[in-house]
Amino acid sequence: MKITVLPGDGIGVEVTREAVKVLSAVGPAFGITIETESHLIGGAAIREKGSPLPEETRAACSASDAVLLGAVGAPEYDHLLPENRPEIGLLQLRQLLGGFANLRPAKAFPALIDSSPLRREIFDGTDMLIVRELLGGLYFGQPRAIGADEAYNTMRYSVTEVDRVARVAFESARVRGKKVTSVDKANVLETSRLWRETVNKVAKDYPDIELEHLFVDACAMHLVTAPTRFDVILTENLFGDILSDEAAVLTGSLGMLASATIGGAIDLYEPVHGSAPDIAGRDIANPLGAIASVAMLLRHTAKSDEAARCIESAIDRVLVEGHRTADLTTDKAAATGTGAIGDLVTRYAVELARERSSANAA
Ligand code: NAD
Repeated sequence: MKITVLPGDGIGVEVTREAVKVLSAVGPAFGITIETESHLIGGAAIREKGSPLPEETRAACSASDAVLLGAVGAPEYDHLLPENRPEIGLLQLRQLLGGFANLRPAKAFPALIDSSPLRREIFDGTDMLIVRELLGGLYFGQPRAIGADEAYNTMRYSVTEVDRVARVAFESARVRGKKVTSVDKANVLETSRLWRETVNKVAKDYPDIELEHLFVDACAMHLVTAPTRFDVILTENLFGDILSDEAAVLTGSLGMLASATIGGAIDLYEPVHGSAPDIAGRDIANPLGAIASVAMLLRHTAKSDEAARCIESAIDRVLVEGHRTADLTTDKAAATGTGAIGDLVTRYAVELARERSSANAA
């Protein structure tokens, strides 16, 4: 697999280094050859090439099987207009790659359960994946306008747009808990009625997957009162934006969270967090969100659920053994560094891969 790596700015560089370390070690253990090539994006790209997404970065991304991004954003550009800031490079990249399904897992790591704002007995066992439609709905619908006395946006969905993202959710449920919760507002919105009818039709192709429908307001409530009831949540763009942030805070640290944007020409993987200039360059950033992003890459682009599980189990083991980056502990002096966490995950994941291949051979 040809992976274009875009470390970007700040801690993006540090966490991506660890993610690549894990990917390059685990991929070959499953017969997946990994070829990586790094390119500039964001502030680093403006500094060297005068553009947040230079032509050579675009070309490399377009010619790869997947893109792994760190983060973009640097304080020296904060005074500029949005169109001149490093963050525009990421928006341009998303447009270039064209992914329509944004996948964000949120789970309770047993070792970190007390970092959650929810009580242990409510959060324990939570393991969900939010599949958010990314290219349609209110954020893109036309017409849209703002006047002196009123403004409006248009919410619009086609059957094709709903069908393709629903299939991503059902396929994801097949390798998880075999349940899809489709979230809409079908008691009020026509787009939601079309959404629900289309999801029901798609569900006929997945008789092994349980399907339930929930209104978005009920879903928001269940996320904080009964998060363990969810496996895969499927929803449209605006609802998904809100619900995925709500789910993210449940896990306790931004540094733990991974994401994937798939369905376009090229899949994009990135941690959820930004470039964190406040902690950059000190080997204290949490690389686990970036590392979990390469697990997603192995699952969705390389189609190796087993390789992905090895990395996820290695992350669990590191946490269970008590290793913590500074964001996960109050005892900052005892915290483990970014590079050391990456080394541990790599070692444990490769050990697991070897155990599995000898078990398979036996
Ligand atoms: P941020 O996510 O960078 O940081 C928020 C807080 O969380 C900070 O205190 C930071 O130290 C901490 N944090 C984040 N990731 C961490 C990690 N892996 N380990 C330990 N602590 C971590 O958000 P921000 O401070 O609002 O933004 C900083 C810059 O990043 C801005 O320029 C912003 O535009 C950019 N940004 C980029 C992306 C992206 O590239 N996808 C996303 C969000 C923000």
